[in-house]
Amino acid sequence: MNLRAWIYTAGQLDEALKCSEFEAVYVPLRLAEKAADRAEKIILLPPEYLADCEEKTEKELLRLKALGFDKALAHTSGHIELLSRNGFKVCGGNRLNCTNSESVRFFAGCGLTDIIVSPEITIKRMNSLDMAVPIGFLAYGYLPMMLTRRCPINDGKPCGKLRCGRQITDRKGNKLDVICSDNTVEILNSDVLMLSGRLGEFHASFAVLRFTTEKEISGIVRSYSLNEKPDIRKYTTGLYYRGVE
Ligand SMILES: [Zn+2]
Repeated sequence: MNLRAWIYTAGQLDEALKCSEFEAVYVPLRLAEKAADRAEKIILLPPEYLADCEEKTEKELLRLKALGFDKALAHTSGHIELLSRNGFKVCGGNRLNCTNSESVRFFAGCGLTDIIVSPEITIKRMNSLDMAVPIGFLAYGYLPMMLTRRCPINDGKPCGKLRCGRQITDRKGNKLDVICSDNTVEILNSDVLMLSGRLGEFHASFAVLRFTTEKEISGIVRSYSLNEKPDIRKYTTGLYYRGVE
């Protein structure tokens, strides 16, 4: 199984580029320039919400394209047109919500080169998908439970570069990390998705390790590449084994 990294910080980007395990690294636009000499390995991550920043995003994409970047991720179907009209190879993200062969074939027909399926798919269904294009899945990370337009920490617009970097507490007392971008806020699950030692059960082309608040990533990468069972007590295997009830 090939591994890909999805990173959020400059430190994670440095580490991910040093890991020979990764066939590709998903990188937010704001950090991409630091990886210009490895552009062939990078899949750009535009903002998830485009309605108030499409022009600015397009300019930034074109600037990065001139530096040699040629692949970008479509979070939603709205991104597909923006990316393809600017000459990017378009990779599909999990928010396209692919959960069956019809949707995979549909997006393959839109020209997508690969697709990360929805984390709400069951392993049984994933393993029977029509692989019209290479299929990947989220295999590690504090996955976003919610994407909002306001920051719950400062009760205002997203903190952007200030990155509030704090937590909220749910009714069960779980601490949820809050990650602000320039125009959206991700509220992350309190439990980490861990599938190391289980990748062989998944029929897919690639597994995506999605890093957000991690200070260092090489230990996690090692346990996935060595196929070790997790050595932490509190983790989740997501919905892959139980489905959405
Ligand atoms: Zn914030």
